[in-house]
Amino acid sequence: EDARIARAPVIRGVGDIDTAIPDREALARDLRLAIGKGELFLHYQPKVHLRRNRVESVEALIRWRHPVRGLIMPGEFIGIAEESRDIIDLTVWTIQQVIRDQRALAREGHDVTAFINISGSLLSDARFVRRACALVKSSGARIGFEITETAVIREPEIAIAHLHEFAAIGIDIAIDDYGAGLSSLAYLKKLPARELKIDKLFVTQLTSSNRDPLIVRSTIDLAHALEMEVVAEGVETPAALALLTVMGCDIAQGYFISRPIDLSALLDFLGSNAIADLDPKRAMLPDL
Ligand code: C2E
Ligand code: MG
Ligand code: MG
Ligand code: MG
Repeated sequence: EDARIARAPVIRGVGDIDTAIPDREALARDLRLAIGKGELFLHYQPKVHLRRNRVESVEALIRWRHPVRGLIMPGEFIGIAEESRDIIDLTVWTIQQVIRDQRALAREGHDVTAFINISGSLLSDARFVRRACALVKSSGARIGFEITETAVIREPEIAIAHLHEFAAIGIDIAIDDYGAGLSSLAYLKKLPARELKIDKLFVTQLTSSNRDPLIVRSTIDLAHALEMEVVAEGVETPAALALLTVMGCDIAQGYFISRPIDLSALLDFLGSNAIADLDPKRAMLPDL
């Protein structure tokens, strides 16, 4: 799905310093209006529980269909939204849309937790936290938040307190991109997190590198010792999926299982036998 849209013409910023800054300003102006104009939309990527061989959660990933520039991926506009503080409205919109979509999934009998990426700067914003809690609480939807540890390190006291508020109303907390940014074991043990997501940096080369399997295995052991489930993101091959299963990884997510897809494709995916066909035990283990 992503790949199909990505083939639409996308005019990217010219790689020249003189135009790069005005381009960013133009994008920031357009982004301010994009929410109201209905240009933002969500794709969902399934997260498969490996022992139960079932999709128990999905991750919402935002995209922007710009009227002139075409499809713009979050890596190109989340940073801009953080600078302009439009990230607050963008995230509130995302939470509301995810709650609606999660209801549509539940109506079809798919009881999955929908995870939302929350920018670090929002974790220390008490007004945002109150608003997010009110939305989730009144919806009764099963929602998770993915946050990075780097976000917590910036203002640890307040961020950790807010994460406890989220957890207290039943929001599942996942630590995203683990191992890729700043991390501190001192904070890790204080976070009310249920999931540790190993960054795809260590997963995409899993079966072709010497060190990544050692890093992944020890991260799995660490997370389990802290009573967290481990998610591997960036699972692109059957060999990676098989190795992760043998290593005791709990949950897998990646292009091999499914690309991020729109809600109707997600409904098809969840209603199909796609997961049963994936059985990693049938995939060939790499010769390590
Ligand atoms: P993330 O939360 O770590 O999401 C994982 C990224 O990896 C996504 O990129 C996803 O499409 C991509 N991915 C999934 N499977 C594979 C795979 O098998 N191989 C590879 N190479 N990549 C894979 P995407 O959608 O471009 O999002 C990039 C980042 O933008 C996200 O990283 C997240 O940090 C941020 N983001 C996305 N949506 C939102 C949002 O609604 N709010 C905020 N604040 N940030 C968002
Ligand atoms: Mg994420
Ligand atoms: Mg991630
Ligand atoms: Mg990432």
